[in-house]
Amino acid sequence: MRTPFIAGNWKMYKTPIEAAGFVRELIDSLKDVNGVDVAVCPPFPALWPVKEALESSNIALGAQNMHFEKEGAFTGEVSPAMLQDIGVKYVILGHSERRAYFGETDELINQKIKAAFTWGLNPILCVGETLSEREQGITKAVVEIQVRKGLLGVTPEQAEKLTLAYEPVWAIGTGKTATPEDAQEVCSFIRETLASLFGREVAAKIRIQYGGSVKPENIKELMAEPDIDGALVGGASLKVDSFTAIVKGS
Ligand code: PGA
Repeated sequence: MRTPFIAGNWKMYKTPIEAAGFVRELIDSLKDVNGVDVAVCPPFPALWPVKEALESSNIALGAQNMHFEKEGAFTGEVSPAMLQDIGVKYVILGHSERRAYFGETDELINQKIKAAFTWGLNPILCVGETLSEREQGITKAVVEIQVRKGLLGVTPEQAEKLTLAYEPVWAIGTGKTATPEDAQEVCSFIRETLASLFGREVAAKIRIQYGGSVKPENIKELMAEPDIDGALVGGASLKVDSFTAIVKGS
């Protein structure tokens, strides 16, 4: 019942000109693909040219972050109103790199999540444990707090538009993927947590992506797990061939 959802998180890669050229190739490469939702999430300066290049394709546009205010004296920030105006559909929030390098807390991420809904953007909330948290056996406790605090005050109607991305920090950009069984265990636990927040029916509609060194070679086994509905892809989303193979493998 849940349509697979593959999103490419480009991080701080590709200039606006490179980005527009890339998506033109990607559109061609994905033209025969059906039954899967695909999004690309370029850096802010590339959003507009990518949006223009994506016109008349089925690929959606996503952003990697945003501020929660509509506008104001917040030097260097980008608002949800600006993203909405460009035609952005998804916004990645709470990525572990934002949490680790830019000090984003669950409270701040929660404000952004609520602002995304206010502005009609569909948030992709990222959660995941570090290596030391996994080794201490507190993965579920960590993820549960991130989910509950990140989604405080979100209504069940809003939650239907939400995507969760389970991204173990130790698997991001390291080439180490969680085993499908480990990823499934946490994704199923996330769905239980979502059910306790929004009810079973809503939780069954929310897509949960796995992220962390997803590549063409491992997408099939990950997607075979019942609670993994797609992937948030970093490194492998930067090349047309590997991203296409991941989309087709989902
Ligand atoms: P990766 O990144 O695929 O390069 O591990 C995933 C992410 O950070 O979203």
